[in-house]
Amino acid sequence: MQDIELITSLREELNLHNHNYYVLDNATISDYEFDQKLKQLQDLEAKYPEYFDENSPSQRVGGSITKNFKTVKHEYRMYSLDNSYSKEDLLDWELKNRKLLGYDDSEIICYTCELKYDGASISLTYKNGDLVLATTRGDGFSGDDITSNAKSIESIPKKLTGNNYPDNLVVRGEVIMNKNIFNNLNDKMEDLGFDKYSNPRNTAAGTLKLKDSKQVEERKLECFIYSFLSEKLPFSTQYTGLKFFGRDWGFNIPDSNVYCDDGLSEVFNFIDHWDKKRNDLPFDIDGVLVKVDKFYQQQELGYTSKSPRWAMAYKFKSEQVSTKLNSISYQVGRTGAITPVANLEPVQLAGTIVKRASLHNADQIEKLDIRIHDEVFVEKGGEIIPKIIAVDLSKRPADTQPTEYITHCPECNTPLERKEGEANHYCPNFYGCPPQIIGRIQHYISRKAMDIEGLGGETVALLFNNGLVHNYADLYELTVEQILPLERMAKKSAENLVNGVLESKKILFENVLFALGIRFVGETVAKKLAKHYKNIDALSEATLEQLILVDEIGDRIARSVIEFFENEENRIIINRLKSFGIQFEIIEKINPNATDKLLGKTFVVSGVFEIYSRDDLKIAIENNGGKVGSSISSKTDYVVAGENMGPAKLEKANQLNIPIISETDFQNLISN
Ligand code: ZN
Repeated sequence: MQDIELITSLREELNLHNHNYYVLDNATISDYEFDQKLKQLQDLEAKYPEYFDENSPSQRVGGSITKNFKTVKHEYRMYSLDNSYSKEDLLDWELKNRKLLGYDDSEIICYTCELKYDGASISLTYKNGDLVLATTRGDGFSGDDITSNAKSIESIPKKLTGNNYPDNLVVRGEVIMNKNIFNNLNDKMEDLGFDKYSNPRNTAAGTLKLKDSKQVEERKLECFIYSFLSEKLPFSTQYTGLKFFGRDWGFNIPDSNVYCDDGLSEVFNFIDHWDKKRNDLPFDIDGVLVKVDKFYQQQELGYTSKSPRWAMAYKFKSEQVSTKLNSISYQVGRTGAITPVANLEPVQLAGTIVKRASLHNADQIEKLDIRIHDEVFVEKGGEIIPKIIAVDLSKRPADTQPTEYITHCPECNTPLERKEGEANHYCPNFYGCPPQIIGRIQHYISRKAMDIEGLGGETVALLFNNGLVHNYADLYELTVEQILPLERMAKKSAENLVNGVLESKKILFENVLFALGIRFVGETVAKKLAKHYKNIDALSEATLEQLILVDEIGDRIARSVIEFFENEENRIIINRLKSFGIQFEIIEKINPNATDKLLGKTFVVSGVFEIYSRDDLKIAIENNGGKVGSSISSKTDYVVAGENMGPAKLEKANQLNIPIISETDFQNLISN
């Protein structure tokens, strides 16, 4: 290829990767490959300056701005750092810096080393110690205003502590998601039938742009601070700024930062240490940041068009191995979603033996053009589940055929469906597809749903395979005699199972609603719907228009609810559950010890109380069977009087000879 053609094709290719990475959150090549291609482009552009193009990917820091948030110009540009992949790169970098600074070999440049957290960059502006603005990186010049979301991140101080911070301070940090929280979130997504998130970094970035700050708070993001910008900083080196001032001001500064006053050899030790230990951290890191420590040297070195000369990102190689693809199998989830899984020749990778890798969906298989018996590259980077990043075409056997995605469910042979705009294929055989039926019953009995003790996931499969249950309503008709003949089932455990099922009749409506397994109706949504509609009949009659008026219920959830109740089989199951005594309406009780001690008595409440609030007092009356009247009449049995009872009421009560009691008297009335 001619150099000029190569420039064009590299630009196109890199633009596409940028789009995949930043907009679609779906990187299709590794960072390393990307940087190699970018470097190749930069070299060519240097060789042919006449082909300069300001829109070339070499001129841009990645990222783009979303329209849903207000765009704000950064007071200080957010640069990205140059990447290096070897110690030689770092040595070259130092040599260049020495030249620029006019230093000979005897002069030592001191560095600060920090871990390179794999998250989303954020810029925070503090005026007189108050957080007034938070923005994303955006394109480096302006970003999205995400102030309210940033405020819901616990480790970002809303107000600075100490007293020597500048009036106007800009702070830069990396927002990250703990790997455990990421995994739990993905379990939840899977439960709800959503596609899983690909890695903690993209999830953290996406979370920052959620519309609901409450949801941001729930995801427990953390923010590590790595730099301060101001006209008047009270320190003059990177390390002291972070270690002493940043901490005093209340920022979350990683303990792992080190100061290297012995040049690059210490930096190399830091790199080697964390390259080995990085899998032990609760967060993903993808390298180390090396920064010239002294601000006056930083200033002298200055910036290129896209990055500071005084800092360098050293990127760890993501661990990668090649192995053979033996077969592809297809799993069917509770919601009917099909997940293709690559079965690999077992291979050692990042300390574990890898036998399987996710292939996500049909598009991914097509994009990779992956075929049975191919030699494939498997990577364990930010992702928890290893993924296949490429096929080694040079080793492809001669007689292979392109992989044809299955058209029918591997479990029940129903033709698969794929809805417009969805990544996954689905088996629509909701009531006949074994893994869907078993999955639904397993969900029904799970802890946060019906919490059925004495019944586990494997037993559910056993019950189904023996024809004893076909849906969760069948559980309530199981008898000890039916269960006993099953494999490994002792009398005691059979009894426990039956009792556990009976006990679930006490489970509250909101949990029951979650247990039904309506697609997109998770725990929180179930609570909202239960609270709003109070009972299943009202919910099942709700129209689409009514449903979307409920707080936080969107079109997608509303449609799914309607679809569920339109289904005849679902209605039959619900009627059966009703007949078994499952809770299908909300129990409004403030006092769990409700009695009928005040049955037939009418109370009027007047004045200000100490033990109860007026509302609590009224609830207590009703919970114990009494009635609350609004004014004193001959039908009133008691007046509960607090401080400042109105004189007119007092007179009326006396006139009608109605006992006036204190709140303590009232307590005695209901307690004995
Ligand atoms: Zn099926």
